[in-house]
Amino acid sequence: MKTDFLCPKCSGYLSVGQNVIFQIRNRENVGGLLLLSPIIGDYTYVMHPSFKISPGEKVDFFCPICHASLSVKGVENLASVILIDENSTKFHVVFSSKEGEQCTYKISDEVIEKFGADSDNYVDFVSASMLK
Ligand SMILES: [Zn+2]
Repeated sequence: MKTDFLCPKCSGYLSVGQNVIFQIRNRENVGGLLLLSPIIGDYTYVMHPSFKISPGEKVDFFCPICHASLSVKGVENLASVILIDENSTKFHVVFSSKEGEQCTYKISDEVIEKFGADSDNYVDFVSASMLK
């Protein structure tokens, strides 16, 4: 199964190898790189061991190519990217940028799929704002 993740601003490919790469910034305004699994609902992540994120800390996500903020406007703690699946279908993927919060939405024109134990947290916002 081959899927691609793209920046919503510059359409640059964020998928490299078995990871999706993000530029991040922590509460102390220290920048780093974060690797996420391309499998939606897999919340493991990899970063340099010198980079620290506390439990529950909100992290700001940016595109590593154009450096645009990936934060979703109008709500705390959510970021979004574009997913192109193996059938070339485009989705918005919205995920929590708060450490430990397991919450992802895969959004097409008609349907919102929820993933993660905390996925009820923003479902009202996502339903109201992303489905037009
Ligand atoms: Zn970009």
